[in-house]
Amino acid sequence: MAEAGSFAERVKQQADIVRVIGEYVRLKKTGQNFTGLCPFHQEKTPSFAVHPTRQIYHCFGCGAGGDVFKFVMELDKITFPEAVRAVAEKCGIAIPRPRERSPEERRENQQRSALVEMHRETAAYFARQLHDSPEGKIATAYLEDRGLNRDAMTRFGLGWAPSSGDALLRQLKAKYPEKLLDISGLFSRDQSGRPYDRFRRRIIFPIANEGGKVVAFGGRVMGDEQPKYLNSPETPIYSKSNVLYHLDHAREAIRQNDFAILVEGYMDAIAVARSGVANVVASCGTSLAEPQIKLLSRFTHRVIVNYDPDTAGQAATERSLTLLLEREFDVRVLTLPGGADPDRFLKEQGAEAYRKLLAQSSPYLDYLIGQARQMDRSTAAGKLAALNYLMPYVQRLPNKLLRSEWATRIASELRVDEPVLREALRRAAAERRSEVKPQTQLLAPVRPAERRLMQMLVEAEGFRQKLAREIVSNGLHRGLETERIFEVLVARVGGPVDVATLANALEERDRRTLFEVLFETSAEATWEEAESCLGVLRTRPVEQELAELQKKIEAKASAEELTRLLARRLELQRMLARR
Ligand SMILES: [Zn+2]
Repeated sequence: MAEAGSFAERVKQQADIVRVIGEYVRLKKTGQNFTGLCPFHQEKTPSFAVHPTRQIYHCFGCGAGGDVFKFVMELDKITFPEAVRAVAEKCGIAIPRPRERSPEERRENQQRSALVEMHRETAAYFARQLHDSPEGKIATAYLEDRGLNRDAMTRFGLGWAPSSGDALLRQLKAKYPEKLLDISGLFSRDQSGRPYDRFRRRIIFPIANEGGKVVAFGGRVMGDEQPKYLNSPETPIYSKSNVLYHLDHAREAIRQNDFAILVEGYMDAIAVARSGVANVVASCGTSLAEPQIKLLSRFTHRVIVNYDPDTAGQAATERSLTLLLEREFDVRVLTLPGGADPDRFLKEQGAEAYRKLLAQSSPYLDYLIGQARQMDRSTAAGKLAALNYLMPYVQRLPNKLLRSEWATRIASELRVDEPVLREALRRAAAERRSEVKPQTQLLAPVRPAERRLMQMLVEAEGFRQKLAREIVSNGLHRGLETERIFEVLVARVGGPVDVATLANALEERDRRTLFEVLFETSAEATWEEAESCLGVLRTRPVEQELAELQKKIEAKASAEELTRLLARRLELQRMLARR
């Protein structure tokens, strides 16, 4: 929120978070931090901490956390600009006008404009490759086969990234300094440090911000290679969680219709938009991030979610939907028959059929009740299980009236006649879950090595960049619970880190993990220590294979099989021992 060089950032630098929060909470110095009773939830022993050097607060009980502005916003229920002014006044900082720009801000703006220009050129280059090159002809044929004509390819700016390893690099090298190419996300470096094109042999979907400026690319393979989709990494102009695909074209239609259709992928969004339904955006993944929801909330508070019904990310989908409810969105769910995704459905059934189903999409509650109905409710225990499935959703609703309406609906739809269950339902709906019980159990355990590496990426001035390169080039963070946190941290090692701003790119759960880690006291890090932590991540695949192997051995394989498994186990154990 506080952009580099802005007035808000100046206020934040000058304001002492301990003093500001100290006006609301009695704080006591404990080690390097300050602690006190949390003002956001009821407690008798302090679990609320303030970090004076990082200028953040965090509650280990309820998970509240952020910078000085967030604290004042949440406690005094005011907007961000109001909070900036309030904090400035508390600290006696004069409020300037008109706003002037600092040299750093100008520099960063220049860098961002240069990156945007680079992406514009790159999008044009990829488009030319699609339409004019021999390789592009194959890609064009492939897209036509999938139902996209030339007009559509042009309308959505589709392109082709050629197979040769440095075609794009050669295009841009003369015009842009190496440093800028490095942070653009368009190139990677090989073992020897030589740069090459990140996107090769892929169909390219330009990803624009809400203003229509291309800030990133998604690349899809035509065959079975992996990964199927490759996206731009986090860069100074792109954060995955801050962008909704197609919002630039959809925003007016979303405002006019006062609702948005949310789909998963590029092809889905394109198919829906081409069918004449313009107010469609894609989250590009099943997991919708909080910043994306905030972005959408500027245009509407009503969403029809049309995700793949059979995605592996069912849990992620439900989590996203819960986030929408928490932000007081009116959520409807469209599940297409036969488990089709929107792209396939539109191809097979046509636009008319899709629009008809869209109009009939059911409110989220009905969708959930439908899911609960499929559970066995012939016994009291079965009914309780169905209620327990539904209640968390009800409890996440911020509006009390709505909670009680939902409870009544659930009771009648599921035919809950037992007074005991009815009473439990009524009581549960009366209060929001977050007010009742801290939800620390949501946080996944993070291994000490990962925790330490996160700290180093923020604090180890001497080798943060080297560390980030090591992690990224070997993909050591891939597949970790903390992958997203690492992604955001390694993207910001170029300059000083403002963790509160950085946290804006994270989902709430990840932000909490990161803040908890940063509140852990630690000695100054050395590269040797970093190496040993990296070692832990490097051995992860071996450990995973070992665990798999152990399961197979215990499952009593045949004698011949067992000999092979035991030999492999020994081999892996030796590998680990050598580390
Ligand atoms: Zn708290």
